[in-house]
Amino acid sequence: MLSLSKLADIPIRLHREIPDSVALKQVTLKKEPTGEWFATFGIEVDREPPQKPDPPKNAVGIDVGILKYAHDTDGHAVESLDLSDERDRLEREQRTLSRKEHGSNNYEKQRRRVAECHADLKNKRRDFLHKLSAYYAREYDLVAVEDLDAKGLVELDGNSRNRAGAAWGTFLRMLEYKCEREGAHFVAVDPAGTTKACAACGVSTDKPLWVREHSCPSCGFTADRDWNAAWNILSRGITQLGAGRSESPPVETALPPGTTSVPAKRVMEAGSPTLKREPSGEP
Ligand SMILES: [Zn+2]
Repeated sequence: MLSLSKLADIPIRLHREIPDSVALKQVTLKKEPTGEWFATFGIEVDREPPQKPDPPKNAVGIDVGILKYAHDTDGHAVESLDLSDERDRLEREQRTLSRKEHGSNNYEKQRRRVAECHADLKNKRRDFLHKLSAYYAREYDLVAVEDLDAKGLVELDGNSRNRAGAAWGTFLRMLEYKCEREGAHFVAVDPAGTTKACAACGVSTDKPLWVREHSCPSCGFTADRDWNAAWNILSRGITQLGAGRSESPPVETALPPGTTSVPAKRVMEAGSPTLKREPSGEP
């Protein structure tokens, strides 16, 4: 129950428990177009964010992409979330709305239905980004990504560029504050040339978008295009952080075996792109 002095007692549903130990600082009420009300609680937490390890021991580079949502240096290629069913439903409800008489009761009812579809899409998208960013912030102590001004976006047309750009910005902001909270370094690196450069030798080669494999004419190193980019992002992140200055870049010592495609569904259900192994039946 939310009690507002001089206003009302309102029954609420908590999406997350509020611990007893925290002090409530403020409440923000917001009415969504669906007609639902949301209350956001600002709380004060005593806990200092944990120390960031220096130098970091467990680093990851993530190439946020178009075909695959995120490609990391540990070989996970996380697929984009498939929301085509939700989009179809939205279009259907919008068509129905266009046939209703503007201002009628039925129009109002249908307008809410459309708003619910929008909210559903938005919530699922955010949920996916929350889970993915939480995974990286939790599992690593250095997370390197490209700064938002990204090359891939330029190659998209207007609408999908706006959508990808917005989702990208949201993902980076989530990653940043979650890294802060978990005591991990967050580094956004200069995106220029991360796809062209060879992660093994540094030589740059032009590569159109449809060439999905990196094959270095200089040293012969071959890898998935995005995975090569992820390694360059990680190397830049380490350099930028000033860590490992005396060490050789990790790419020379730790080339992972390859790339596994990860359905977005797994991230949604398990909260991690890593396959959880079934406990073995051995005694
Ligand atoms: Zn090379």
